[in-house]
Formats: sequence, structure tokens, C-alpha cells
Amino acid sequence: MQVDILIIGQGICGTMLSWNLFKEGKSFLIVDNNLPAAPSKVAAGVINPVTGRRYSYSWMIDTLMPFAHESYAEIGNFLDQKISFEKSIIDFFPSAQMRDAFVTRMTENDTYLHTYPDQNQFNQYFNYEFGCGKIQPAYTTDLQTLLSSWRSYLTNRNLLLEEDFKAENLSFQTDSVSYNHITAEKIIFCDGIHSMNYSWFKGLPFAPSKGEAILIESKELTNQHIFKKSMAIVPLFSEDLFWVGSSYEWDYSHPNPTNEFLEKTKFHLDTWLKVPYKIVDHKAALRPSTLERRPFVGFHPQNPMIGILNGMGTKGASLTPYFAQQLAQHIVNGVPITPEADINRFQRILSK
Ligand SMILES: Cc1cc2nc3c(=O)[nH]c(=O)nc-3n(C[C@H](O)[C@H](O)[C@H](O)COP(=O)(O)OP(=O)(O)OC[C@H]3O[C@@H](n4cnc5c(N)ncnc54)[C@H](O)[C@@H]3O)c2cc1C
Repeated sequence: MQVDILIIGQGICGTMLSWNLFKEGKSFLIVDNNLPAAPSKVAAGVINPVTGRRYSYSWMIDTLMPFAHESYAEIGNFLDQKISFEKSIIDFFPSAQMRDAFVTRMTENDTYLHTYPDQNQFNQYFNYEFGCGKIQPAYTTDLQTLLSSWRSYLTNRNLLLEEDFKAENLSFQTDSVSYNHITAEKIIFCDGIHSMNYSWFKGLPFAPSKGEAILIESKELTNQHIFKKSMAIVPLFSEDLFWVGSSYEWDYSHPNPTNEFLEKTKFHLDTWLKVPYKIVDHKAALRPSTLERRPFVGFHPQNPMIGILNGMGTKGASLTPYFAQQLAQHIVNGVPITPEADINRFQRILSK
């Protein structure tokens, strides 16, 4: 079998890259082993334009957020699904200091931060003694529907092989790559933290971070907004179901859900929520985070047949549509890759 591009992994990166190649008429095949604990299957898919304790605006967010919303609308139309939902974030300040930080930042730049006029509106659902502000626009992305619908589309057309990719079966010729019975012009790795294991990406500064989340059911909680108070409560796409999370750990002994997170989250919800809830699931995954919090996009400086779309860290939902399109345009039309994302910035390390 001969294709233009062989893609390893069908998380959000492999999905959006293959979608962009598909639109450009490039042939491709995806190899994906359908790991249940892939972060794309555990994530809430929130796009929050604001980050950190100082309410800084995220890198490139003015470009990334509308781009992501439009891209999800486009692939959603194709798949006959709604993927991206605008939902404002109600930010309950955990302390007076955080309220001051919000107000200071809003005074400097109020693009995404707004006062909430009726401070008592959420009294029936939550305890909050320091008030709340509103972050808008923000989005939730239905990654489960996106990944599974695109997977069905690909599977029905024999464009996806459900199996484990094994690097030892890969070989390179002068201008092609062979993998078992497949020959391609290029191979692009979209396999999250697993890219760290290949000799050709050794040295890329991955810094995986573990995240845990629980799913709760609550008939009485409103699903009109995303709610935040240290943790986030995110309405999911089936009725009465909410995602609650998450943790960020760089130092962990195993990748699985922990009792410690469960107990901490229960305690937090019991003091914050006034309405009853039931825990229905608990998940964990390792995010492909990077030391300098910028993605890894582009082709290996020593072997231009090997590419990567990875390193989305905590922001896969917002970063991926833009950089997947950029990588596809780079392949098809030679469009340059944003220097802060291009793996060529690690030319020296990757050439060792
Ligand atoms: C708890 C938690 C909450 C999060 N919340 C958000 C959020 O609200 N918003 C946001 O933007 N981001 C969030 N993230 C981050 C987001 O999930 C990641 O940035 C994103 O999912 C990374 O996607 P990916 O496609 O690079 O990798 P992955 O999701 O890891 O996908 C990799 C794919 O490759 C496959 N694969 C791996 N190895 C092989 C192999 N050897 N052979 C074949 N296939 C293979 C896997 O099965 C998988 O399908 C969250 C992450 C976590 C853990």
C-alpha cells in the first residue's frame, strides 16, 4: 500500500492533521492503538483564553481560539456533529488576592475578563465568599464525538489501522519510508508522550504531566457555564453529566487514577457545591507537555521524512487546529512553521 503520509496516533493531533491533509487531497493512513487512557479521551476540551494566577492571556490566543472554533465547526459539519460550544467561564475567586488579581488584569485589558453583574445568581448552587468574574468567550470541545466520528469515517474507508506501531518495523529509503506493507513519503508522529521513546526525538524537551479528573452526575446543577474555583466543573454533552478536574503533576509514580485525587476532589466539591452529586467515573492520563510550553511541529532537521505534531500540553483543544493546518500547509505549499513551534529550534539537540 502506498500513501503520501503515514500518521502514528489518532488523538486530537492525528485527527486534525489527517483532516487537513484530507481537505488538501493528500493520501494518508493512520496507525492507532486506541489507548483508553490517551489524554484526548480524558480531557474536558475546554478552551480558556486566560491562564495562571495572574490571569495572563494565553500565547497566540486571539488567533488560536477563533481558528479552533471555526475548524471544529468545519469538521463537525462534515461529520454532521456539533463539536465546539461557546460557554463562558464563571470564575469564583478562591481568595481576596485572586479577586484583586482578576480586577487588576481586567483594568489593564478587558478582552476576555468581565465583571459578573449579579453576584448572587449562583447562590443556589455554590458556596462562594469572594465573588465571581466572567471569562468570555471560552469554549468546550466535544473531543469524544470528534475522535470517534472521524475514526468511524476513516475505518469505513480503510484509512485507519488499529494496531500498535512498532519502531523496529520502520525503515527509510532515499526518498520513502516503509512500515510493514506500507510505503509513504513521510511519517508524522502524533502519538502524544510515546514520541519520547524514539531515538530520532531523543532530546526533545518533553515534560509529561499527569492529570486526573472525575465525572459526576447532578440533576440540579446548571449546565449553562463552566464553573471554576481552583478546579473546574465542565458540563458534558450528555444531560446531567459534568467533568471535574484536574490535577497537574510532574512527579508521579504511575499513570493511573489515585485515591488521593479522588478524596481531595470530593472534599473540594463538598465544600463548594450546594447541590447533590454522584461520582460516576475517575480517569487519569499523561499530557504531552513540554519544558518551554510550546508545541513540537515540523520535520526532523536530519531526516525530513520524519515529522511530528505534538507537545500540546494542557492546551490541545486550542493549539491543535491551528498547528495541524499549518503543518499540512507546510507539506502541501511550503508555508513556514511558526518559529516558536517549529522543531527546528532544537536543531542542535536533534542533530546529536
Ligand atoms: C486530565 C486532563 C485534562 C485535560 N483538559 C484539557 C482541556 O480542557 N483543554 C485542552 O485543550 N487540553 C486538555 N488536556 C490536554 C489534552 O488532552 C492534550 O493536549 C491532547 O489530548 C494531546 O493530544 P495528542 O493527540 O497529542 O495525544 P494523545 O491524546 O495521547 O493521542 C495519541 C494517540 O496515539 C495513539 N498511540 C500512542 N502510541 C501508539 C503506538 N505505539 N501505536 C499506535 N498508536 C499509538 C494513542 O492511542 C492515541 O490515540 C487535558 C489533559 C488531561 C490529562
